Amino acid sequence: MKKKHWYDYLWIWPIIYFSLGFFNIIFAWLGMIDFLVPIIVAIVKGNKSFCNRYCGRGKLFAVLPTFFARGKSKNLAKKVAPKWMYSKWFRYGFLLFFLTMFGNMVYQTYLVFAGASLKTVVKLFWTFKVPWAWAYTATAVPEWVTQFSYGFYSLMLTSTLIGLIVMVLYRPRTWCTFCPMGTMTQGICQLKNR
Ligand code: SF4
Repeated sequence: MKKKHWYDYLWIWPIIYFSLGFFNIIFAWLGMIDFLVPIIVAIVKGNKSFCNRYCGRGKLFAVLPTFFARGKSKNLAKKVAPKWMYSKWFRYGFLLFFLTMFGNMVYQTYLVFAGASLKTVVKLFWTFKVPWAWAYTATAVPEWVTQFSYGFYSLMLTSTLIGLIVMVLYRPRTWCTFCPMGTMTQGICQLKNR
């Protein structure tokens, strides 16, 4: 049996992250770790060791189907995602869309910084506003800090939900084929290793 390393258990990280954000939205800032670390690793080391070893979300998608299939004789779904999902235009198009949405989230944060009122909602799939006011407990921090938390948590939750949907429909880590962080770090590694 293959020896387990500490990072094999990192699938627990997204569960902890979303649970903390459920009760206190300020914890959404912890998601910056998932945003910055892969970029720093790609720039410094020129490889995708974050994706290959340390990404909790990627590990969660790999672990969940195995967990649910436990005790069943049925094999795990191995359906390959449609070709367009692997294509360059889709991966880069999705990255562009994602960065645009990230920019919009930063702009919404700026508006609150400039005096607009705080919106205590989590926006799913960039469309559906889900009231989330109970998680607004840290009134001691500036409102723009909280607004960023709501925006970032929305982004993290939406991308994880998309990942879960494609995990159910296709192979467990299908999300990784078009994950914006994966596409970005791959681009950085290619540039660095030229
Ligand atoms: S592609 Fe994205 S979800 Fe997959 S391992 Fe890399 S950072 Fe994590």
